[in-house]
Amino acid sequence: MSLGHGRTYHAIPGPSVMPDRVLRAMHRAAPNIYAGELVEMTASLFPDLKRLARTEGHVAIYIGNGHAGWEAANCNVFARGDRALVLATGRFGHGWADSLRALGVAVEVMDFGRQAPADPARLAERLAADPAGEIRAVLCTQVDTASTARNDIAGLRAAIDAARHPALLMVDCIASLGCDAFHMDAWGVDVMVSASQKGVMVPPGLAFVWFSDKAREAGRRADLRTPYWDWEPRVAAEQYYEHFCGTAPTHHLYGLRAALDMLAEEGLEAVWRRHARLAQAVWAAVGAWGQGGAMALNIADPAARSHAVTALRLQAPDGTRLREWCEHEAGVTLGIGLGMAEPQDPAWHGFFRLAHMGHVNAHMTLGALAVIDAGLKALEIPHGPGAVEAATAALAAG
Ligand SMILES: *Cc1c(COP(=O)(O)O)cnc(C)c1O
Repeated sequence: MSLGHGRTYHAIPGPSVMPDRVLRAMHRAAPNIYAGELVEMTASLFPDLKRLARTEGHVAIYIGNGHAGWEAANCNVFARGDRALVLATGRFGHGWADSLRALGVAVEVMDFGRQAPADPARLAERLAADPAGEIRAVLCTQVDTASTARNDIAGLRAAIDAARHPALLMVDCIASLGCDAFHMDAWGVDVMVSASQKGVMVPPGLAFVWFSDKAREAGRRADLRTPYWDWEPRVAAEQYYEHFCGTAPTHHLYGLRAALDMLAEEGLEAVWRRHARLAQAVWAAVGAWGQGGAMALNIADPAARSHAVTALRLQAPDGTRLREWCEHEAGVTLGIGLGMAEPQDPAWHGFFRLAHMGHVNAHMTLGALAVIDAGLKALEIPHGPGAVEAATAALAAG
């Protein structure tokens, strides 16, 4: 007997829950890719994607995942031998740095560990030590999906400006776009990378790169572009196929149209507030479980926590035991503790992540929290009482 039968909930941080409306929009025969409805519909995506990033700049769509988005951004901005400064706050900054290195960019990583955001003061200090302005760009994640640390992007831009440094600011919003507030232009971001399968609620397969005029100008000397990755034809296509350097990702585009409609109907500010409120319910629950010290949020400072996903630390191997119980006994799949320890290290089994990104509402988050609470009891994992009560009180408080 298992209580897991019924509609399951994959509370992993991507691919996230896909709305039926998105799936229905994709369920159709192959469209004409030369003229007609698809071509017209595609034109409507670009302005809406810019609204989503709060930018008047440009956006290119690629067939690819987040890694493809990194590589696209890299090729269009850098020349071989250029210098880049990556601020790592978990796992994904290191991944972006690897992509840069493989392309021949000289990368310096400033590592802020796995439990804190990047410190703007340290960035300002580092840039002050580069008076010739040789560092071309500063790169970071808005949210690191492994540590679930959220960076203060406006604060990092202020640090670059305070150092009077010309570096571009490039931000990975793959986990956070459509979850955490993001203002590309107001925050002085030059390049932003995201993908379809997290807050954007579309199956994996689309990568997006937004860029400012300044980045476009700076990129004219980039020598790493190949025809597929070049963002120029994609944003200034004369023929439809140039938007995608070949066949369009037809069905994903229909799914994206539906997802952007859903975000616009709810209102982006309301979408951000929904994610903030659900995150607060999660934090309240973990606060109660953590009385006695057996469990804690990975990020101590609430201002530096993601609103899309939450990483938790327990005594190993209780994280893995709990994940397995929730999946098999209750139909809730939690995320593994990615990048917090190596999988062969016993400590790896002391982490898990709960995603609350994208197409998620109060009943889903409260349900997941109550299931975790039941799992802690069933497995006799030490925890403080009153977590579900704390979560419902947090939501009721508004
Ligand atoms: C998921 C994620 C990636 C990687 O995206 P893929 O689609 O798996 O290539 C990169 N950065 C962040 C912050 C992510 O959350």
